[in-house]
Amino acid sequence: MSHWTRKELAGWGRYPVVDACCRRPERRSEVFDSLDQRDGQPVLAHGLGRSYGDAALLSDGKVVLTRRLDRMLDFDAETGRLRCEAGVTIGELIDIFLPRGWFPPVVPGTQYVTVGGAIGCNIHGKNHVHAGCFGDHVRRIELLCGNGEVVTCSRDENERLFWATIGGMGLTGFILSAEFELYPVESPAIEMESVRFENLDEFFDVSAAYADSPMTVSWIDCVASGDALGRGIFMSGQHADASAATGVEPSFLDRIAGVVQSAVDGRMLQSDLLLNKASIRMFNEAYFRKHPPGHQQTIVDYEPFFFPLDAVDNWNFIYGPRGFLQYQVVVPDRETIREMLLEITSCGMASFLAVIKEFGDHDHGGLSFPKPGVTLALDFPNYGDELLRLLDRLDRLVVDTGGRVYLGKDARVSRDNFRRMYPEWEQWKAVRDQWDPQQVFQSDLGRRLGLVGQ
Ligand SMILES: Cc1cc2nc3c(=O)[nH]c(=O)nc-3n(C[C@H](O)[C@H](O)[C@H](O)COP(=O)(O)OP(=O)(O)OC[C@H]3O[C@@H](n4cnc5c(N)ncnc54)[C@H](O)[C@@H]3O)c2cc1C
Repeated sequence: MSHWTRKELAGWGRYPVVDACCRRPERRSEVFDSLDQRDGQPVLAHGLGRSYGDAALLSDGKVVLTRRLDRMLDFDAETGRLRCEAGVTIGELIDIFLPRGWFPPVVPGTQYVTVGGAIGCNIHGKNHVHAGCFGDHVRRIELLCGNGEVVTCSRDENERLFWATIGGMGLTGFILSAEFELYPVESPAIEMESVRFENLDEFFDVSAAYADSPMTVSWIDCVASGDALGRGIFMSGQHADASAATGVEPSFLDRIAGVVQSAVDGRMLQSDLLLNKASIRMFNEAYFRKHPPGHQQTIVDYEPFFFPLDAVDNWNFIYGPRGFLQYQVVVPDRETIREMLLEITSCGMASFLAVIKEFGDHDHGGLSFPKPGVTLALDFPNYGDELLRLLDRLDRLVVDTGGRVYLGKDARVSRDNFRRMYPEWEQWKAVRDQWDPQQVFQSDLGRRLGLVGQ
């Protein structure tokens, strides 16, 4: 039987950090107990805390850590349909099912996320253009609602609740289990092609040329300016066939992983020495230059392709004690991306890792992030007020063009801007309030954005 204890809790950005009352149940009965409202305390599910900001945080309330709710419940080896508890991780799915020839339908940039978190943030991956989001592959959800009722929802049963829960940021209830499809693969290897692009326009040319590729993503140098604004490295991949499962090459990030790991483990953790404007500039230059101009083809293992950052444990600590903010947006056009890059390079605040990618046509509405357009994700060391002012300026560009910020990575967007970015929020809230009139499920993000409460 698990007990409530107080502990320091943060998202992956380590900003903000809160003191939370937590419990780590192993059984459903303990999850049901956790909703007990005699203490009047709201509740929130917390998976592996890989959302970056305050999505999985609840300062005054009860946080239910889901990691031990990790049972596989049913698997159909003919169709790849799996039912499991929500604390199962993407990494566990791969460990168990890849040897049998199955892979999760959508994976993010780390394997350390739970199925509950993947649904809560309706995660997208490198295959968004062709496969949509994780929610596109979910068939059924078993949800514990605020009134204590366990409700099954799907595309034809409690449909509105189903879609509000996909990307619902944990605010429609506690996902007990989910049923979704894995897809067949022949090998753990990925056939990868990479192309160096010299500026933003070239990125769009290369991206268009690879429109049929099943998976794409690009690293972009956010420090380069002038003619080199938006230069970077485009990567595309597809699961290799059975004969191609050898010849796996380590990625550049793999090769520097040892160095970064020692820094993370060592005393630089306590300071801002490791990541500053100069070292970020050096890293970006080296990462760009290590790829020769033009095109390369190779076979890589699935891990460095999908999860390059997982090679370093707790890499989020390289940002020092003040943490960092990830800022991910989707905007409809390249000119807004150009304006954003100009704004970032002109103020000299460097982003360590930046990723750019075109999304497909899928838009789930509600609080789900992806919509047609281009997504840009930036990691900024917490430069304090100077950074917050920059992000406010970027928000204005995003809002004016009809774009939006990814809530799974957010810790600071204003309520007004959020409402303009997610115009369907009121319809979403009406569904949520119908199933949780007592406002049992809450989060710091939900409070900040006005998604909970009357
Ligand atoms: C290195 C890295 C790379 C990433 N790459 C991507 C990417 O490519 N694409 C992408 O979309 N995201 C990406 N993310 C973000 C991450 O995939 C999501 O934030 C995901 O939700 C994290 O899962 P988690 O289990 O850690 O959930 P948490 O962060 O713990 O929770 C996230 C949300 O889900 C809710 N939730 C969790 N479990 C349940 C449950 N059982 N019932 C109801 N609600 C629940 C929480 O309340 C919270 O609102 C990345 C994160 C990292 C650290």
